[in-house]
Amino acid sequence: MTSTYDPRMLPLAAFARSGEQLSGSTPIADLPRLYAQSVDAAHEMDAHFSVSGSERFDATGHPQVWLHASGQCQLTLECQRCLRPARVGLAFERDFRFVANEALAAVEDEASDEDVLVFARQFDLMELVEDELLMAMPLVPMHETCPEIPRFSVVDPDFDAAAPESVNPFAVLAHFKRTSPKD
Ligand SMILES: [Zn+2]
Repeated sequence: MTSTYDPRMLPLAAFARSGEQLSGSTPIADLPRLYAQSVDAAHEMDAHFSVSGSERFDATGHPQVWLHASGQCQLTLECQRCLRPARVGLAFERDFRFVANEALAAVEDEASDEDVLVFARQFDLMELVEDELLMAMPLVPMHETCPEIPRFSVVDPDFDAAAPESVNPFAVLAHFKRTSPKD
């Protein structure tokens, strides 16, 4: 299906009523808050998203706007075990229901399985995708299996010259403390 919707200015009510689906991708560089998390920004590619709209009726017969949205991307984060760049997959899939104002959203979000957002005539879907991908970020990013830690090398040239065979014990300790798992 060819869609003419602009994901930055999605006409929510019409989109929901149509029941259409909108999929696409956007460069991660265009999602600045997510992009800022990358430790390898130059190599970040696209985030992919897909959203479908529906209009449902509440108990009193009032139409409600719903979106079902999903998205995913790969982002390079610093592995908290080995401190090297790790490609981490981020993904979400959620239902969103729109209400008239912030107060209603706050109350109903607590009591609902779906996320409750404030209705906007022109909705910025990319902002939502970015929010959700940020929330999908792991608190402690790590490689599933860390690449082998390279052999330690002394960086202080004076120390090197004085004792070429030894290793700076403080640097070793610092390195060990950073890479040693807590458990
Ligand atoms: Zn690692």
